Amino acid sequence: MALILPDALDAALLGPEAARVGAVLVIDLEALVANWRAIAARVAPAECAAVVKADGYGLGAVPVATALWRAGARSFFVADIEAGVRLREALPEARIIVLHGTPAGTEKELATERLVPVINTLGELERWRATGRQRDQALPAFLHLDTGMNRLGMDGGETERLIADAPRHLDGIALQGWMSHLACADHPDNPMTGDQLRRFRFLLARLPKAPASLANSGGIFHGADYHFDLVRPGIALYGPNPAPWMANPMRPVIRLLGRILQVRDVPAGASVGYDATHRLAAPAKVAALGLGYADGYPWSGAGKGHVMIGGHRAPIIARISMDLVTADVSDVPEPLLGIGGWAEVIGPSRDVDQAAADAQTIGYEILTRLGRRYHRLYLDKD
Ligand SMILES: *Cc1c(COP(=O)(O)O)cnc(C)c1O
Repeated sequence: MALILPDALDAALLGPEAARVGAVLVIDLEALVANWRAIAARVAPAECAAVVKADGYGLGAVPVATALWRAGARSFFVADIEAGVRLREALPEARIIVLHGTPAGTEKELATERLVPVINTLGELERWRATGRQRDQALPAFLHLDTGMNRLGMDGGETERLIADAPRHLDGIALQGWMSHLACADHPDNPMTGDQLRRFRFLLARLPKAPASLANSGGIFHGADYHFDLVRPGIALYGPNPAPWMANPMRPVIRLLGRILQVRDVPAGASVGYDATHRLAAPAKVAALGLGYADGYPWSGAGKGHVMIGGHRAPIIARISMDLVTADVSDVPEPLLGIGGWAEVIGPSRDVDQAAADAQTIGYEILTRLGRRYHRLYLDKD
């Protein structure tokens, strides 16, 4: 289904649910699948996983992963066990990899749910092996080697101890792969990216052979050297630009539409919104739209950017309220300003990256904070 323009969004398509809420989030699963396929083709023969942590970057881990599974994705990364168990219900055969490892006491559930932990320390590895021995089973794991980010993964000292006696440390582990993570992949020429690549290769050469994985979305666009055996795109699947040094190669996936709740004429000299921060120099027409910071629209986006109504720009003005955004709709033709109509807040006319820049944040944060109150409409082929 093609993306629908807000002025053509009809009530029948949105359904009665949409009439009951202030904003609608349209999630184009076909575009998401196209983005995954484009990356899978770019990295082949490496495997293209999908990172669906934070509830699929705010878009719904289950619908997102289910659509990608149908398209051929087989490996999915989540942050914690809770998310892994929920995804396991939907995808009984998928490889579900848990980035936060094996917090003590969770080993049994990880094993029972057939989740694959990413192990970050030798202590964790030891406990995971013990769980395997108790169950008389070689348990699967990725091993995370830190190559300079100093966040998660085995540090230099632990990695050397691992290398010194790898057969013993790995005994009883069904090793799925070596993993590391890039700190600066969305910058075109930060030397750290190449340093991490060289460090990763240096470590791999001294460790038992297993599939290797280094690249997140940005890393994938640094070229084939970064692809190894498995890539881990997250953000690129959801539409923002994974490689800000070039034109965005991904298709937009979301459209956020705010309902026009009221339109008023405001005289010159009057103010709009909390704290009266926005004072009108000239008479204007002001619309109140049905979403706010409680829906994840950033408070820091006050007076920044615009919404689109039927192809016409309407600047966002004044403070962002809990449940409302106000826009100056003076330049929007009257017939488009019907109460109950829709303004595009995020979409092809103002993408996630732009909305993020307007509010001095990043696209990741805009997506993962998308509100729970929105009526969510998933567009799919079927
Ligand atoms: C979040 C994450 C990814 C995906 O990163 P994107 O920049 O969203 O592609 C990949 N690997 C690890 C370890 C992560 O934490």
